[in-house]
Amino acid sequence: MRRDWSLLEDGMSTQTLYFTDPYCFEFEAQLIEQIPLSDGRFGVILERSYFYPTGGGQEHDLGWLDEERVVDVYKDEGRHLTVHVVERRLPESVLQARIDAERRLRHMEHHTAQHLLSYCFVELLGLETVSANINGDTPSTLDLTNSEPTLTELTQVERRANQLIRSDLIVKTYFVSPQQVNAIPLRKPPKVSEDIRIVEIEGLDFSACGGTHVARTGGIGVVKILRAERLKEKTRIHFVAGSRAFELFQSSYVIVAGLAAQMSVGLLELPAAVQRQADQLKNLQRELTHLKDQALAHEARRLYETAERLGNLRIILAAFDGRSMNDLRALARELRLLPNVTAVLVGAQGERVSLVTACAEGVGLRADDLLRRLTSRINGKGGGDAFIAQGGGQGDLKTAQMLLEVARVDLFALAFNRPEQQP
Ligand SMILES: [Zn+2]
Repeated sequence: MRRDWSLLEDGMSTQTLYFTDPYCFEFEAQLIEQIPLSDGRFGVILERSYFYPTGGGQEHDLGWLDEERVVDVYKDEGRHLTVHVVERRLPESVLQARIDAERRLRHMEHHTAQHLLSYCFVELLGLETVSANINGDTPSTLDLTNSEPTLTELTQVERRANQLIRSDLIVKTYFVSPQQVNAIPLRKPPKVSEDIRIVEIEGLDFSACGGTHVARTGGIGVVKILRAERLKEKTRIHFVAGSRAFELFQSSYVIVAGLAAQMSVGLLELPAAVQRQADQLKNLQRELTHLKDQALAHEARRLYETAERLGNLRIILAAFDGRSMNDLRALARELRLLPNVTAVLVGAQGERVSLVTACAEGVGLRADDLLRRLTSRINGKGGGDAFIAQGGGQGDLKTAQMLLEVARVDLFALAFNRPEQQP
């Protein structure tokens, strides 16, 4: 996008006014130039502007020039120009400019909160901030030098920062010369060597910063650290401030109060109630598993008692509607432990059939052989060993019943040809 600058005459510059009055959200502006950008949009240059362009870890403003939305704002560092990006060419040369005040205020609250937190991290823990990212919608972040503050330390920092918010300290901004800057106790050295702008929290914290800030710390409202994320050589602190923090508190409170009401306990009893429920669930699951095992053993015994006899073999052929493979396998495991059993279990679920075959030890038949014969009839696949095998394919309950008929014929043929035993 920057290549479009070649269209501009030299010597132009935008008077950037957010430095002096970050609370001005509406102003009249003289349009100097509109540059067609490579993506079809237009870069509008104003004689003077309160719009903040992306930079210093803070995102750009949004807003309107007359009725046209300003969708991006960036600066041309070399020429000191602020570029307001709009979708269409503007017809007028004198414009009514309006900044999205809610978005800007969120940035100001978070940006000042970041200065304050960074100061508190140094004051209480001696930890330097290496970079920051200011965002009014998602949590803002600041990165601390190699260190891992504990939860207690984070709470201390948070408490101290909120105390300084309530003290409602003045946040001053001023420009100093490179000579003057040496006399200022900056938290970290400035990135620029001229037009150094100082943001001072009343005698406590001095930062070189070109962003927008609230006029007094009370304007931050509240700051809340959400979490600390351990990265390679730093710790990232996620935090919210001001109206965003309030919204988060509101929505979190609705959720927590709703959960407490659902569990018929007070807010503070919620953790214990959740723990109780988790314990109960674990016990119920244990009990359920036990009951299921008993039910399966009972079902296996019932199938065994009504099994068809073929010589000494007990042949079990059963089809089930809507029974899962896991269930069938569990039943087969029970069956194969009963003497002389050969079982074919088929389950139909939706458009799939599941097959499990089981052969007790010493019956002279193999479960995997049996399965292969059946799956070949439905273009299915599967596998297993001599005792239990499983597979499946396309089909429904009718297919399941057909497979059992096939199994019956197969089993009778196989039973007569068993190598070890004859019926
Ligand atoms: Zn700042």
